[in-house]
Amino acid sequence: MATHKLLLLPGDGIGPEVMREVEKIVGWFAKNGVGFETETDLVGGSAYDAHGAAISEAAMVRAQDADAVLFGAVGGPKWDGVPYAVRPEAGLLRLRKDLGLFANLRPAICYPALADASSLKREVVEGLDIMIVRELTGGVYFGEPKEIVTLEDGSQRAVDTQLYTTAEIERITRVAFDLARKRRNKVSSAEKSNVMKSGVLWRQIVSRLHKAEGSDLQLEHVLADNCAMQLVRNPKQFDVIVTDNLFGDILSDIAAMLTGSLGMLPSASLGAEDPKSGTRKALYEPVHGSAPDIAGKGLANPIAMIGSFGMALRYSFGLVEAADLLEKAIANVLASGTRTKDIAAPGANAVGTQDVGDAIVKELSALS
Ligand code: NAD
Repeated sequence: MATHKLLLLPGDGIGPEVMREVEKIVGWFAKNGVGFETETDLVGGSAYDAHGAAISEAAMVRAQDADAVLFGAVGGPKWDGVPYAVRPEAGLLRLRKDLGLFANLRPAICYPALADASSLKREVVEGLDIMIVRELTGGVYFGEPKEIVTLEDGSQRAVDTQLYTTAEIERITRVAFDLARKRRNKVSSAEKSNVMKSGVLWRQIVSRLHKAEGSDLQLEHVLADNCAMQLVRNPKQFDVIVTDNLFGDILSDIAAMLTGSLGMLPSASLGAEDPKSGTRKALYEPVHGSAPDIAGKGLANPIAMIGSFGMALRYSFGLVEAADLLEKAIANVLASGTRTKDIAAPGANAVGTQDVGDAIVKELSALS
């Protein structure tokens, strides 16, 4: 039995609660022929309490060594006053930086059973399945100069720099092309080439790469503001959307809300492909935070975390059948009405975090 190395970093707040449910799923797959070697370590506030840092050097070594990292959530009021450099989020930023995770994948899937939880009409979102690929390590969040300067007259001027190179645009576009080939073969590239030079270059390079390496795929260019509008008007027109760091931040949050609750949204962050093994460094995490308001109460929806593990099955381990099986099990459990409070149907009884994990494990057995 092949084993896959997983590092579990549950973190703070509801992180450990939702990670426990993933461990049940991992255990089920182990009994059914897909083995995982798991290690667990601290990150965020819990790592700060133990080591005075948001992630220890030993945990970083384990992360480098793992085939995939599963990350829960970090932060909470307890650590609001800790020094900036060691705040809980610093652990996640260090992981992203040191593992070179430049591609952020955020699927937005609307399960039929949850179509009424969306703020949009059922017919607009039912069956929605799109993937937003956001460039994560470049662009205006990192470009220099980045400063606030005081002018001679005492007023101030703030500067952020939007900056992209050919190589950065090419590598994120390749990730989008690869994903589209496993989906519906369509890529929409979003930028602002009408007003930004970085957008002009983005469009040129995506077009050039499409001609050279992606002619089997349908490519469309869409201005980022129009893309935002289309996401709420007719989101099902999209398959894979590829975009930069800033636009991706905004567009993926819009897409997220199409599907209902924060507790439903998984994500993946991928690094460069290793030329020898063909594998990528990868970190999988729910989009939500540590939810201190419900932590410790057994109320958290574990599906975003379990879905993140599903993405690891698909994108890190190539276990497409296992990933499909897990998604089907999640969909069936949702359809059966076994839901946490955040997604419970009006008037229906909500169940706890553990009940959802148990129901998914039971459904996996029923399906296989
Ligand atoms: P949050 O995502 O933790 O919570 C927002 C709201 O959504 C809360 O009402 C919460 O109860 C609810 N919610 C979130 N996840 C849920 C789930 N799985 N099931 C049911 N309900 C869920 O965001 P916040 O309140 O802005 O931040 C809380 C803490 O989390 C802060 O310390 C913040 O810095 C941190 N945070 C961490 C990450 C991360 O680790 N990647 C991301 C965002 C926020």
